[in-house]
Amino acid sequence: MTKMKIGWVGLGTMGIPMVRNLLNKGFQVCVYNRTREKEKELIKLGASSVRSLKHLSQVSELVITMVTDDEAVEEVYNGSNGLLAEPSPGTLMIDMSTVSTKISKKLAKDCNNRGVRFLEAKVSGSVKPAEDGQLVIMAGGAMVDYEKALPVFETLGKRSFHIGEVGIASAAKLCLNYFLALTMQGLAEMALFAQKEDIDTEDILNLVNESALGSGVTRLKSQTILSNDFSPAFALKHIAKDLRLVQKEGMDFPLFSPLLATYQTAFQMGYGEEDAISIIRFLDKRSSDLKTPGSLNKTISNQSIP
Ligand code: NAP
Repeated sequence: MTKMKIGWVGLGTMGIPMVRNLLNKGFQVCVYNRTREKEKELIKLGASSVRSLKHLSQVSELVITMVTDDEAVEEVYNGSNGLLAEPSPGTLMIDMSTVSTKISKKLAKDCNNRGVRFLEAKVSGSVKPAEDGQLVIMAGGAMVDYEKALPVFETLGKRSFHIGEVGIASAAKLCLNYFLALTMQGLAEMALFAQKEDIDTEDILNLVNESALGSGVTRLKSQTILSNDFSPAFALKHIAKDLRLVQKEGMDFPLFSPLLATYQTAFQMGYGEEDAISIIRFLDKRSSDLKTPGSLNKTISNQSIP
């Protein structure tokens, strides 16, 4: 059976492995990335590309966007040469970027006004699950559109859920990332506390991960801490952006303000392009700046702070 023709916008950390999976499973994929250089690897694997976003829907049954934030999706859909400039009627457009509920609802309306269908489908999981086709996908929009996109979701993810109208999946994604940010700050503070108690970092992380406290996130981020390689699976700039979106949704629980302050300050201090768990280096530095410099654990102290 011939598989759907897919248009794909956004070849960042997530977009590239996701498109690779689609190509490996026999989908025809036409890509567009603002920085054209990043298309090359996928073209070698069989993808085609378009020069302008406005032509993408004309060669695709379904167009997926996976870009940074609200501003990026607005530009991609509504820019003068954007997806909605000359859309092919009836095309299904799916936004997988983590963005606000407000912009998701606006995009649905904009698409509707241009005779195009719209679904939001947010993803949980970072680079490794994206590479392995093991993402968890949460979708909001019409069931008929969700069903049309299912073969794609089944390739990109291990589970997908239709959870309501457009906006609800964006909200669910923000809930998950709020919990992710809490978990990472908990892990970082716990490891730094253990260090002060002269417990080896590897020992304490093993204990966490073998106990009921262990989770996919603690295991993944423990590896990052121990390898001292903070290259981004999920860049800190993205979680700081997500927490700002959570704030706009009116979150006011007690842990939220200090959490936002951690990620936001770390971002402002130059950790934005590193993995989000680099807050451990930020918190360590902050703590030693506040007190007399203490003894820093060799596993996390011997890298230069940006
Ligand atoms: P990324 O590596 O920073 O890539 C961002 C992509 O967006 C790039 O292709 C970039 O194009 C494009 N872009 C940004 N602004 C644009 C604009 N104004 N017009 C056109 N294209 C624009 O981000 P990522 O890690 O792949 O994440 C993408 C989205 O998924 C984000 O919303 C993120 O929060 C979410 N997410 C990420 C993860 C993760 O673990 N990384 C997991 C789940 C969800 P250029 O190449 O030209 O810069």
